Amino acid sequence: MNALALPPEFEGRIVRAEPMSKHTSWRVGGPAELFFTPRDTDDCVAFLQSLAPTTPVLWIGLGSNLLVRDGGVRGVVIATHGVFAELERLSDQDVWCGSGVACAKLAKQCVKWGLGPAEFFAGIPGVLGGALAMNAGAFGGETWRHVLSVTTLDRNGVRRERPASDYNVGYRRVVGPPDEWFLGARLRFEARAEAAAHDIRMLLARRKQTQPIGQWSCGSVFTNPPGDHAARLIETAGLKGFGVGGARVSEMHANFIVNDGTACAADIEALIEHVQATVERVHGVRLTPEVRIVGEKTP
Ligand SMILES: Cc1cc2nc3c(=O)[nH]c(=O)nc-3n(C[C@H](O)[C@H](O)[C@H](O)COP(=O)(O)OP(=O)(O)OC[C@H]3O[C@@H](n4cnc5c(N)ncnc54)[C@H](O)[C@@H]3O)c2cc1C
Repeated sequence: MNALALPPEFEGRIVRAEPMSKHTSWRVGGPAELFFTPRDTDDCVAFLQSLAPTTPVLWIGLGSNLLVRDGGVRGVVIATHGVFAELERLSDQDVWCGSGVACAKLAKQCVKWGLGPAEFFAGIPGVLGGALAMNAGAFGGETWRHVLSVTTLDRNGVRRERPASDYNVGYRRVVGPPDEWFLGARLRFEARAEAAAHDIRMLLARRKQTQPIGQWSCGSVFTNPPGDHAARLIETAGLKGFGVGGARVSEMHANFIVNDGTACAADIEALIEHVQATVERVHGVRLTPEVRIVGEKTP
């Protein structure tokens, strides 16, 4: 039997050979063999349990930190945006946020509730699940500083609640139990006397001045090495504006690679490797990609 054959209740809802370029902010990426959007948690559990144990599974949020190679993704991609979408206030300071809630929505709702600091979430163009996987942060704020516990689902469809202490968390790094994905988190903020809607507007305006917002990118490509900035190292290595195919190091922010509309994933990956090699030659520092690179190369 085909390892990717599915029971009839899922066969009608699965998309086969879905172009991942539709689901990534770089707008590149080959097809996912199977692409599934669950209705809710129970549906996701039943789906995971129906899969052959060897079928690879990739969860995605808004694809704003993902480079999917042109040969596509083997197995199943599970889309979470808007699915695990509950956002509710649990107590004076605590909030439940589903992993499919957009970070911008979390920021705005916290302002309405008089909770903070959550403004930094406003400019992160992903969902909470992606922010939990990446420990996303901006302007001094970081996702895991607010996590009390997470609810996860594993490959067999088993749900667990885990305290934040089960995870080893650092700068854009989160190491936890393997083959478990986030359904949501209990987050803690401080009660704020004044709503900070103007802070959100200010932070978004600052981004517009310094980042190529509106162009296809995945934000910062590399993490900052200790005590330095990847953007500074790339710029001073003379790489601003350097391109491979339709991919180019942004003139506005050297740690961004933008797609001019014609790039494929191989162009972007080749440019990432070129930037790494050049910066290492010039500065003696090997930059580490922040973006997650997944999928198969084309032969
Ligand atoms: C213009 C721009 C600006 C950006 N600015 C910032 C910034 O200021 N700070 C910052 O930190 N990042 C920034 N980013 C990067 C990106 O938005 C963040 O990393 C974000 O948290 C990714 O969320 P996502 O939902 O898009 O995740 P995706 O890109 O879909 O996935 C990222 C990773 O998380 C995993 N994942 C997704 N959902 C789950 C889940 N539910 N459970 C387990 N794993 C999961 C995926 O498998 C993948 O490995 C920026 C990106 C862009 C395009």
